[in-house]
Amino acid sequence: MDEAIKIARSAGILGPSVMGSPHAFDMEVRVGAGAYVCGEETSLLNSLEGKRGIVRAKPPLPALQGLFGKPTVVNNVMSLASIPVIMDRGAQFYRDYGVGRSNGTIPIQLAGNLKHGGLYEAAFGMTLGQLVNEIGGGTISGRPVKAVQVGGPLGAYFPPSLFDTVFDYEAFTAAGGLIGHAGIVVFDDTVDMLKQARFAMEFCAVESCGKCTPCRIGSTRGVETADKIARGIEPEKNRQLLADLCNTMKFGSLCALGGFTPYPVMSAMTHFPEDFAPTPLVEAAE
Ligand code: SF4
Repeated sequence: MDEAIKIARSAGILGPSVMGSPHAFDMEVRVGAGAYVCGEETSLLNSLEGKRGIVRAKPPLPALQGLFGKPTVVNNVMSLASIPVIMDRGAQFYRDYGVGRSNGTIPIQLAGNLKHGGLYEAAFGMTLGQLVNEIGGGTISGRPVKAVQVGGPLGAYFPPSLFDTVFDYEAFTAAGGLIGHAGIVVFDDTVDMLKQARFAMEFCAVESCGKCTPCRIGSTRGVETADKIARGIEPEKNRQLLADLCNTMKFGSLCALGGFTPYPVMSAMTHFPEDFAPTPLVEAAE
């Protein structure tokens, strides 16, 4: 990015007089310290202002009151990266890629237990199964796929029975998931989905900005509850508790970190209930 900006500045595209016009426009890169929540727009603004990366309540929306209290437009790099081709080839050219209301292409990151992991750009409209088996080449371990997490660490897990799901925003929402940043992580049949659910809660506890209770406290209680299920302590009661906790986090959290953590947890419980039913231990009597 820094190199591209240097080139644009020396070509007169950025600077006090863009292409010799009276208009000034410049860009600079600010590197964050790595907090996941600083991908949330208001937390990002606080971080840019030199404050702790904590989420702001909305309203006011950043478009009205953003960086240093000024109206601010916030877009992710994926959106901005689609602008050049639209400017160059026109909107219809871009629209011709994709399916339904999901227009254009998306950079998809194939990762995890896959033969051909990597970064691929594809039009919306392939099925999840095509992405995993045809582009990704199936598991590198040679074992059957058990679960695929789509959308990042807060994305839902999909079993192979949902491989017909079309990779677009609407179909994934309807299937109880999300496209998110289009990261796809594949797991074979050795994965323990209860451990994956626990990991999601732990991730949320570590990355939580701490502003709201459902996320800050709920994620820690979620880790504890998953541990109780794993140890066979009152599994039925604790499965219900974990589902209730997810419900509270989903609808009571201020931002998507706490609000989306239930996606991996609930999808793991829904599609892989056998992993949430360990053999009860002696402690079950406690
Ligand atoms: S959901 Fe979590 S990260 Fe988001 S505002 Fe609440 S505590 Fe902060």
